[in-house]
Amino acid sequence: MPHALIALGGNVGDVRTTFRNAIANICGMTQAALLARSSDYTTPPWGDVEQAPFVNACIEIDTPLDPHALLFALQKIEAKFGRDRAKETRWGPRTLDLDLIAYDDVSLQKPELTLPHPRLFERAFVLVPLAEIAPDRVIGGRRVASALAGLSTDGIERLPDPL
Ligand code: ADP
Ligand code: MG
Repeated sequence: MPHALIALGGNVGDVRTTFRNAIANICGMTQAALLARSSDYTTPPWGDVEQAPFVNACIEIDTPLDPHALLFALQKIEAKFGRDRAKETRWGPRTLDLDLIAYDDVSLQKPELTLPHPRLFERAFVLVPLAEIAPDRVIGGRRVASALAGLSTDGIERLPDPL
């Protein structure tokens, strides 16, 4: 089955509980097996808006869904956990952001779905958890751990595993 890497982020509510429930939903709704899950990380807020720190994590799944169907399912799950795209500013606070980082070696350049994710290599908050579960993966011609080595990881801290 195809493998997909998904980045999770959020900074509103009990984000770590949201992640736990969202991951269960992702596996249920996309008939996926969870192959790997990173630790949760606290990461500095970014973008223009002054806002709370984020929690970020990454997972790897295998799923029979095609990339568009998978993204559609991820957006349904975002909505289920309280995300209302109509009410938020771009890169502002959100309960749950689910980004499709990579889907096998598929390359797509559509506005509604770009693969690999276009901002992956600028975002230490995605690469740090990704490097925990797939350091040697080559995405878009770049090795994850090497791409991370070129970025600042200031303020990114691994959170202790929940009891
Ligand atoms: P961001 O994740 O960059 O903070 P959003 O979550 O608001 O922004 O996503 C904006 C749009 O990006 C969505 O409508 C979605 O269709 C599109 N998009 C394009 N490529 C991807 C991808 N690889 N993963 C998730 N969304 C994507
Ligand atoms: Mg997103």
